[in-house]
Amino acid sequence: ATHPGFQALDCEGIKAYVAARPQLAKHVGSPDSSGSWQVREIGDGNINFVYVLEGPAGALCVKQALPYVRAAGESWPLTQDRVRIEAAVLAEEAAHCPQHVPALYHFDARMCIIAMQYLPPPHGIVRKGLIEGRMYPLLATHLARFLADTLFHTSLLAMPSDKFSANVARFSNVEMCRVSEQLIFTDPFFPAPRNRHTSPQLDADVATLHADVAARLAASRLKVKFTQQRQALIHADLHTGSIMATEHTTFVIDPEFAFYGPMGFDVGKILANLLLMYFACDGHATEADPRTQQREWLLSAVAELWASFQRRFCKLWRQHGAKGDACSASLFDTASKEGSAAQQLAEQLFMAELWRDTVGFLGIVMLRRLVTFAHVADMDSIADADARAACERRALHFARHVLANAAGVSSVQQLCDLAQAAW
Ligand code: ADP
Ligand code: MG
Ligand code: MG
Ligand code: MG
Repeated sequence: ATHPGFQALDCEGIKAYVAARPQLAKHVGSPDSSGSWQVREIGDGNINFVYVLEGPAGALCVKQALPYVRAAGESWPLTQDRVRIEAAVLAEEAAHCPQHVPALYHFDARMCIIAMQYLPPPHGIVRKGLIEGRMYPLLATHLARFLADTLFHTSLLAMPSDKFSANVARFSNVEMCRVSEQLIFTDPFFPAPRNRHTSPQLDADVATLHADVAARLAASRLKVKFTQQRQALIHADLHTGSIMATEHTTFVIDPEFAFYGPMGFDVGKILANLLLMYFACDGHATEADPRTQQREWLLSAVAELWASFQRRFCKLWRQHGAKGDACSASLFDTASKEGSAAQQLAEQLFMAELWRDTVGFLGIVMLRRLVTFAHVADMDSIADADARAACERRALHFARHVLANAAGVSSVQQLCDLAQAAW
């Protein structure tokens, strides 16, 4: 059902909306100048409408959620509560890692609108940049920082349990989670009506996947973890299309799927997307740019992201861990020898489990992008179907292997070696 008083706005409507609100208009220009403002709809995502307003004082980004999925229309209704989640999460993330999140200026529950900092060119969506052959030297370090800061500070390692429980309730996002549960964890294993794959080239591979008991079992365990584990506030849609970057800066956008879930889902999802591009490189190779350097860079980014995340997370734990109820000072008094040893062991065990989760989630996320409803442009933009299928098949077999054998992939180096061998 539509929010009471809700109205979908077009470019003119957005302009009037902003001009009528001085605290928003100031980012664009004085309301008298609104006749000269430029307004464009720039949304290229599947779900919402996104506008940029430009005027004499600068620019502003406005996002509006309709009561359905943009790419599907009214036949696929979707809760507008996702805007409340997005606004609350942008604010929460900014409290922990402001340098990697667009500043939130405004949230309107009735109109399902948020307004935020506009990230101007040369900022671009990372997925697009990667397809064009770009590399981002600081991407892995920045994302590791974003993940460590947001995941650590919203977990029980950093919070007392009363605040933690209040957060779990505040960020309840059941309907959006249901979408992920279906599309990611269930649809890859049967011929769901929405599914598609490169056909007929991958028909046999997909039939094998549908009959794959080990992969299905791994996916069902991960689905339970996704649905049940309240570990931290996760972004939950952290793919390369949710990141805007330049060579020097990185911003994570679009947290409408966020909820309290397993940390490994965020880490695994971003690694999955870097690896999907890794496997797509071959399909984008030309004589002028064989993509060799980019492919190597993508693997090094995977390794760097995990290593840097782990370092930063453990550093935060040692600095702030005593404040949380998971490892209060009386259990892990690092001034004492026993406390210090306990802390070290706690970190090792925690990271070992998180790595196993990460590997499993990255496997299922890759699979899902190859054989279900929403594919990645990294693969889809390879025009030659045979070339595309060859890339997708390598990615599919790699993903299936790590999903079903997550416990056997003991380090990020081993993961990268497997990816290299699969290519
Ligand atoms: P959806 O939820 O529909 O996926 P997104 O939040 O991902 O919407 O935004 C869609 C597109 O709008 C992005 O891919 C990006 O190109 C553009 N965009 C979103 N937020 C900003 C911003 N703060 N600054 C500049 N462009 C943005
Ligand atoms: Mg998006
Ligand atoms: Mg900021
Ligand atoms: Mg979105």
